[in-house]
Amino acid sequence: MGLTVVGSVAFDDVETRYGKVTRVLGGSASYSGVIASNFTDVNVVAVVGEDFPDEYMDLLKNRNIDTRGLKKTRGNTFLWRGRYSDNFARRTTIETQLNVFADFDPEIPDEYADTSFLFLANIHPALQLKVLDSMNANPFVAGDTMNLWIDTELNLLKTVISRLNMIAVNDEEIRQLTGKFNLVKAGRALQKMGPECVILKKGEHGAMLFHHDEMFFVPAFPLLQFKDPTGAGDSFAGGLMGYLASVGKVDMDILKKAMFYGAVSASFTVEDFSLNRIKDLTKSEIDERFASMQSYTSL
Ligand code: AMP
Repeated sequence: MGLTVVGSVAFDDVETRYGKVTRVLGGSASYSGVIASNFTDVNVVAVVGEDFPDEYMDLLKNRNIDTRGLKKTRGNTFLWRGRYSDNFARRTTIETQLNVFADFDPEIPDEYADTSFLFLANIHPALQLKVLDSMNANPFVAGDTMNLWIDTELNLLKTVISRLNMIAVNDEEIRQLTGKFNLVKAGRALQKMGPECVILKKGEHGAMLFHHDEMFFVPAFPLLQFKDPTGAGDSFAGGLMGYLASVGKVDMDILKKAMFYGAVSASFTVEDFSLNRIKDLTKSEIDERFASMQSYTSL
């Protein structure tokens, strides 16, 4: 049981119309791992530098996250700087410093190698592949990526995709990956590249699931307070995969609930910068919002 998450643990500098933060905790593995810890046991595989503060390490440990796979090495922690346009339609990456990720060689602790659910959060596809090759068991694998890797590492990325059970992408990424503009056709085309489940993230407009020949749609949870969309995608995946891992199997009915949990999880993350809103989040808060979501969407 449990979920292993591989991805970035980062310092983020983020600017939105609601404020600006520097060197806050970020990274795809941080967001997805912390959210998933509401549902199941979580193992994290990532690397940080000597400058990574104990305070951030403790935040992960306080969520009962197993950090034996989170290595601290010489050098600086990965850093991402981003800015959102006033209407949040565009995110500009101002700077990415790979730092310790430049020569990261992910090692899966023996205790993680038999995990039955694996989330390959956004990270260089060569690292995603290395992790896939290190698993003993045959886990259910979900993967995330970004335009950077589609632009620079397409062949490697396609090899990763061919080995995934599930992929999470946004509309720009899916169009770029498949060459299809119509999103239903693009979803079906991406399934043909490997994963039986394709999740199309549409930000404030919700998310869509293609599973075998079925489809499902979940809206974004309507919020009064919204500050920073960073980590929404990772949190969606963390909630979804955490729930799947807690159930221990995958079928369409379970996936539909998992999509709801993904949407609800992401809604907490975007209420504040960094992991501020989710670091002390409880499963009962998630379930309360899950129930509201159900009442908002049923006839
Ligand atoms: P999301 O908003 O869910 O797409 O993810 C945002 C997180 O992705 C931020 O906290 C960044 O630290 C992290 N991130 C940005 N660029 C990269 C990259 N090239 N590789 C890994 N993680 C990244």
